[in-house]
Amino acid sequence: MGVRVKATCSECLTTHWSELYLGQEDIKCPACGHAMKALPEGEYNEIELTLKKQKLNNIIALVSFGLAFLCFFLWIFKQEHQYSIFPHPTQEDFWYVNGFPAVTIVGLLVGLVFAILGSRHRFILEF
Ligand SMILES: [Zn+2]
Repeated sequence: MGVRVKATCSECLTTHWSELYLGQEDIKCPACGHAMKALPEGEYNEIELTLKKQKLNNIIALVSFGLAFLCFFLWIFKQEHQYSIFPHPTQEDFWYVNGFPAVTIVGLLVGLVFAILGSRHRFILEF
């Protein structure tokens, strides 16, 4: 399985998504046919590793955002007593009073950090 990177051709200046994979002989422009020698294995591995790490960071960010939104809506809907499937919370209901808002805030912060980590590097291949 290869990695997808944006590539810009120096001859016709078009930008396209290029699929890179190990053992590839050259990288070709689909518009004008201009070609360059494929990346060395070291550079290819570096790009692949970085993109895999970013994908993992993005998945963690999505899960954190999802958890934050779930807790936010549980918190909001629990306040609407008459429409709620939950019993009306009492002041002593620690999870309702502190838990849902806390998880919402922590989830948003964690999601933000991982979203930044997941989008720090962009690879644009110019040939
Ligand atoms: Zn071209």
